[in-house]
Amino acid sequence: MFNMKVVQPARLDPETKFKFRCHKDIKCFTKCCSNIDVMLTPYDVLRLKNRLKMSSEEFLEKHTFSKIDEKSSHPYIYLRMKKDEKRSCPFVSFPEGCAIYTDRPVSCRYYPIGQATLKKQKDNEIVHEEFYFFVKEPHCLGYEENTEWTVESWRADQEANLYDEMNREWKSILMRKNISGQTTLDPKKQTQFYMASYDLDKFRRFVFDSKFLDVFDIDEEEIKKLKDDEVSLMKFGFKYLKYLFMMDETLKVKSAALEAKKAKE
Ligand code: SF4
Ligand code: SF4
Repeated sequence: MFNMKVVQPARLDPETKFKFRCHKDIKCFTKCCSNIDVMLTPYDVLRLKNRLKMSSEEFLEKHTFSKIDEKSSHPYIYLRMKKDEKRSCPFVSFPEGCAIYTDRPVSCRYYPIGQATLKKQKDNEIVHEEFYFFVKEPHCLGYEENTEWTVESWRADQEANLYDEMNREWKSILMRKNISGQTTLDPKKQTQFYMASYDLDKFRRFVFDSKFLDVFDIDEEEIKKLKDDEVSLMKFGFKYLKYLFMMDETLKVKSAALEAKKAKE
């Protein structure tokens, strides 16, 4: 989240060219790692908790805080900054820089580019279009350097494209607020959103240690994948949220569970 004063009003395409270089010898090194809000995505949390060898619960407790977004009613999470005067990121030090660099969050990877999604009507269908913009903060001297990029080559170099791919379905859930008939989330659904988006270890217990697999029809192969592979489990969480928020029939209830429900009614 940026102060709008530093956001350049022009919309950038993947082919837009710019010059920029960030390196350890630049005068402003690490200045961009203080006094900021770093919003985290599900794949950020997955990478960071593994990097720090923590459970998702420990990571969320120690390094994040959550805030309900007023417009969408979604609980979003942010890196908890140090309580020093500069509100520095807990992972930054000088002159070393970012201590978790290879697992840094996607918004740190994009910087000094920002990213936004726009809702558009196309052939009677609502489509979501991603676009980019420059963030030009006065302290950032990287724009004075001579290395040439396009937005696309910058995304690839920073591995931001991998993160976008991982978070794609989750981001489509965030656009929920633009679908007609979608209401604000009640506290129960907010808790589910938080768990399935960020708290992967708790979500694993929810799937495997509750009646979840008695209720939903998930084939054996997928169950095995969910057990063995965290990325699959994370993406399954997005499917679950889409089902829960009635955005898509992403899950099927077992007929026995449906009959048991009818018998109770
Ligand atoms: S995670 Fe790393 S790159 Fe991002 S703000 Fe913190 S120190 Fe800077
Ligand atoms: S302020 Fe800009 S150039 Fe300086 S370290 Fe941060 S991103 Fe790099």
